[in-house]
Amino acid sequence: MKIFLYSLFIIIPSVLFAQISFDADFESGNLKSVETINSTTFNITTQADLGVDGGSTRWFYFRISGVKNKNINVTFTNTDVTKAMYSYDNISFTRFSDDEVPVSGSFQKTFTQDTVYLAYYTPYTFSYLQERIKEWQTNQFVLLDTLGFTPQGLPIQELTVTDFTIPSTEKKTIWIHARTHPSETPSSWHFDGIVQELLSNKEVTNYYLTQFEFHLIPFTNPDGVYYGRSRVNFEGINLEPNWDKSEDATSNEVKILRARMQELNDEKPFSVFLNLHSQASSYCTFWVHSSFSTSSLFYTREHQFSNLNISDNPYFLQNDLRESDLKPRYPEGWL
Ligand SMILES: [Zn+2]
Repeated sequence: MKIFLYSLFIIIPSVLFAQISFDADFESGNLKSVETINSTTFNITTQADLGVDGGSTRWFYFRISGVKNKNINVTFTNTDVTKAMYSYDNISFTRFSDDEVPVSGSFQKTFTQDTVYLAYYTPYTFSYLQERIKEWQTNQFVLLDTLGFTPQGLPIQELTVTDFTIPSTEKKTIWIHARTHPSETPSSWHFDGIVQELLSNKEVTNYYLTQFEFHLIPFTNPDGVYYGRSRVNFEGINLEPNWDKSEDATSNEVKILRARMQELNDEKPFSVFLNLHSQASSYCTFWVHSSFSTSSLFYTREHQFSNLNISDNPYFLQNDLRESDLKPRYPEGWL
């Protein structure tokens, strides 16, 4: 499998002024333009998603060089970021403090190193995922499959995580997928945490692996992640509301995922199906489907499941539980 053939990064002309330069010439990078106000003050514009479902300008991920000991002032002109993240090593990211963000959507900071990376959320790139998969694959409970390839030639990968000594017929099936919207990197960190927990070799998780077969899709939209999109794939299609379209009217990614879901669900209906996203608000939302769009049994089970997640969880409050109608254009509704 050849998956590292891609050298077409987003090319942004570097802006050079007083030895400070900006670029996003790397995987998942997004920066459209930089307006120089003075030698240390800049306005940043992000690249909008292209295509029929395009328009979102949320995601940015770029590098500034030549900043050591300079008080840099940046305003983001077209993204809804409140407090951006920064990193000196491009691995460990820190959110700017209240003091460093006098006005929402900007920052001012004297950096202690010469190069700094800025992003909307902590990035989670395709290459990083491949490193993680390599680590996970050394575990006896993990099997990697490639379900198909995106229009840009990236694999849509599936991890099956279970105790393979127990026959499938004796286990329930769980499907979890993430990262349909590339800018929502917290959903990948959430996904990563789930895998890590399942492989933690605790008595309870090892027991789960004897009872459940986890089918885990880390990126439903690898092209969008790779090319630094906010909500669409490389071709400008938002995959999320494309599930009820005919085979010739929907995207490659949805076709590949639908076929696999159909195959597994025909063998045995999924016991749990999770579609991981993330939001920019300062609170969480745990969506469950309204009773009149499903059935009273399904509605009860969704509330039970949601409450098991929300109760005693410091990241959720009861108000975070919201209802929406199940619609066939979304993966849950299609299923
Ligand atoms: Zn989303």
